[in-house]
Formats: sequence, structure tokens, C-alpha cells
Amino acid sequence: MSSSNMKIITVVGSGLIGRSWSMVFISGGYSVKIYDNQPGQAVNAIKEIRKQLEELEGAHMLRGELKATEQLALLSSCDDMAQALEGAFFVQECVFEQLEVKQSVFQDLERLVGKDVILSSSTSCLVPSDVFSKVQNRSRCLVSHPVNPPYYVKLVELVPHPETAASVMDTTHALMTKVGQAPVRLRKEIDGFALNRVQAAIIAESWRLVQDGIISVKDIDLVMSEGLGMRYAFIGPMETIHLNAPEGMEDYMKRYGVGITRVLTSFGPVPDFCGEGSKSIVNEMCELIPNDRQNLLARTERRDQLLMALAKLKKDH
Ligand code: NAD
Repeated sequence: MSSSNMKIITVVGSGLIGRSWSMVFISGGYSVKIYDNQPGQAVNAIKEIRKQLEELEGAHMLRGELKATEQLALLSSCDDMAQALEGAFFVQECVFEQLEVKQSVFQDLERLVGKDVILSSSTSCLVPSDVFSKVQNRSRCLVSHPVNPPYYVKLVELVPHPETAASVMDTTHALMTKVGQAPVRLRKEIDGFALNRVQAAIIAESWRLVQDGIISVKDIDLVMSEGLGMRYAFIGPMETIHLNAPEGMEDYMKRYGVGITRVLTSFGPVPDFCGEGSKSIVNEMCELIPNDRQNLLARTERRDQLLMALAKLKKDH
């Protein structure tokens, strides 16, 4: 497909993630057609996006080269799926995280698009082999897993189906880079992909430390936000260890490998996150931040403001 044909992207599903993807793609100059099977939902998404783009422009945080009005002019909604797909070279699916719903959406999509059109899923917890099991030509299918909120957190995990063509991974990698995301490739599918596997390890050990009475909920969160997290916004665990010994990674492991192995072998079993023992942890968290809508929304807004400032800092360095 020539690049002159690669201008239109269809976003299927216009919830939180569909709206975010749309904003990211129009910021890169692509035309985006949004389809949602709930009548009126896609139109509402456009209204919401308009509001957000205007706020971002006001805060000098709009992404890309185009003004908010120019980006909005690239955006449209269609209540008809076939119409929404017309002319698209790339489809980003963002419907509910339910296997049967996704499988049927991809069956519909395959019927309605040409064989070269890339079919990409936003799924966070399902593996490509399951999501695309009802698609005939799976070489053009992959998962492009974003991190919430994708407008500020740029990572996208590209996860292939066993049959995904290398060119499909390459085209998607180039597209994500062009729109300012930070794509990474997984060479094979795996449950949880990379980000959620690492996150699960962190959650599990944090949970165990609180459950075993070693540390409070408040303090384990500070271990991340004031400790590990300070570095991790800029360098990952591999570079961290490479820089933490005079002669780099090998030296680090000679010095500290035995200690790390000892600690790792003392880790407890997978916690029961919903059992009786979890109640006191949940209560401790809710004392810090009550779990009513208002409090949670206020903290989410604070998180997004801080992420916005961090995204700006990263852009400037
Ligand atoms: P959401 O519930 O906010 O939105 C889903 C949208 O899909 C709704 O507007 C719904 O009307 C629409 N929809 C449902 N079935 C449809 C169909 N058959 N055809 C067209 N539209 C349909 O969900 P979300 O949080 O935006 O998540 C979407 C996807 O993104 C999920 O797979 C989720 O796992 C993934 N994801 C979510 C996050 C997150 O933090 N929310 C992060 C990364 C990935």
C-alpha cells in the first residue's frame, strides 16, 4: 500500500481508549472515523474530544503540529460500520474487554475491509490467538496495547499473533512512532504482555509486604513514587543496574546477584487479592483516599495533571 493511501484510520468503540486513540491519531495528521454500536456514542465522543483539545491547546499541551481546529477537522463519526471503514488502511478496535464481543467485531471487520487493511486490537488482557481466532487472514492482525491515558503515557505494546506478518508489525511500529507514541515489539504473544507482567510482580510483592505487616499501604506507595519511580520515568530496570556498578551490568550482578537471588527465593505465594485477608488492606487504602466517586475522580485528575507535567519534562529532555 502506498503512503498516499495511508491517511484514514477507523477507531471502533468510542469509550475512554477509543477517544484517546482518536486524539493521538489526529495529532499526527491522520483522518479518523469513529464508529460505535451505541447510537449517539460516537457523536458524544467527538464533543468530548473537542473539549479536551481546546483545554490542551489552552494549556500549551496539544500534541503534534496542527492547531486544535485543524485536528478536529480530521475527525468524523459514522453510525454505519461499513461507511466508517471506507478508505481506512488501519483499524484500531477499542470495544469492551470481552472475548466474544471482540471476536465478533473482528469477524465483521474482516468482511468489510480489503485484505491489506491492518486490524489492531487495544485489548489489555486477552492474547492475540484468542482475539483473532475467528478471523480468516490473521497475518494482518496484531494487538496494539496502549497505557492509560495514552495521550501522556506513550508506550504501546505491539503483540503479534503467531501468524502476524513482519510487515504488519513494521507498518504499525512506524505509524505509532509517527504519531508520537513509544512502540515496543513483543516477539511472541504471552499472557499479560510485558507491562502487565512487570506490574503484576510489583503489585504482588507490595501486597505481600503490607499483608505481612512489614510496611503500610501509604509507605509502600512512597517506595515507588519517591524511590524506584523517580528513575523509572526515564530509565528502565536494565539501564538502572547497568549504571549502578562501576563496570556496568556484569559487575552489578557479580556484586549483587546473589543477594537478589536470595531475596527472590524468599518471595511468598500469589496473594489472595479478594479473600478475608484483603479487607484490612482495602480499608487502609480507603482511609487514605475514600473510594467514593468524587474522591477517586479528584485523584484521577491530579494523576493526569502530574502525568501531563511529566510528559512535558520528558519531551524537553
Ligand atoms: P469503554 O467501556 O470505556 O468503551 C468501550 C466502547 O466500545 C463503548 O463506547 C461501547 O459502546 C463500544 N462498543 C461495545 N461493543 C461494540 C461493538 N460491538 N461495536 C462497536 N462499539 C462497541 O472501554 P475502554 O476502557 O475504552 O476499553 C476499550 C479497550 O481498551 C478494552 O479492550 C480495554 O481492555 C483496552 N484498554 C483499556 C485501558 C484502560 O485503562 N481503560 C488501557 C489499555 C487498554
